Amino acid sequence: MIFFRKKKDMPDGLWIRCDGCKGMIFKKIVEERMFVCPECNYHFRIFSRDRLKLLLDENSFEEMWATMVPCNPLNFKDRVTYPERVAIEQEKTGLKEAAIVGKGMINGREIMIGITDPSFIMGSMGSVVGEKITRITEKAMEQKLPLIIISGSGGGARMQEGVFSLMQMAKTSAAIARFQEAGGLYISILTDPSLGGVMASFASLADITIAEPKALIGFAGPRVIQETIKRSLPKGFQTAEFLLEHGFLDMIVNRQDMKKELSRLLGYLQ
Ligand SMILES: [Zn+2]
Repeated sequence: MIFFRKKKDMPDGLWIRCDGCKGMIFKKIVEERMFVCPECNYHFRIFSRDRLKLLLDENSFEEMWATMVPCNPLNFKDRVTYPERVAIEQEKTGLKEAAIVGKGMINGREIMIGITDPSFIMGSMGSVVGEKITRITEKAMEQKLPLIIISGSGGGARMQEGVFSLMQMAKTSAAIARFQEAGGLYISILTDPSLGGVMASFASLADITIAEPKALIGFAGPRVIQETIKRSLPKGFQTAEFLLEHGFLDMIVNRQDMKKELSRLLGYLQ
């Protein structure tokens, strides 16, 4: 299931509009190509469960801590209360929270894997996301398995949880550091978008950092930076391609090649 933006002029049918080349494309072809535009290689945003399906060996995924849900430490309310907000997002996405973690296999190699989903409160990191990422890192350490975390997060820390959310940056970073000191292999995959507190903690601490083409990656978004420093930003700023050129990424990998590439890396490095 693709989660392209719903536009009034777009029938929920055979064709979808590509955000990259603006062309109308036959939906079935896009799906067959793992939700990548055949014309311009634009990578559509996809749901975390679909991404796991594309990446992992069939029926190999064992989800962990699937029922964990946040409490409401600040009694936060925007238009609705935080528990209501969470319930709305759960209904919309079919997810319990913004992160899924568990054990899986890539071409027969066992790994621990975590993923954040930008369709759930922008993939922001609250106490549940932080706790799940920390626990899966500790599991990887305990079972001496490689760790792969796929980030998709347009929000950083989750404001509804205030400082409890910010704490997760330190907690996940510390868990990753302990894992790496123990000799664990950590691969981070950055998808569109990877921003904020997720990017400023676990997502940028990997031994190998991979991104999908054209993914937006950074701390604050370009509009915020531009309004703050009152200067225009260089062309392509915060795209995966710009960051590869400036040494922040190790490689950019097309979605269709990701499984093969991960399998190769695991073979070399494990
Ligand atoms: Zn396109």
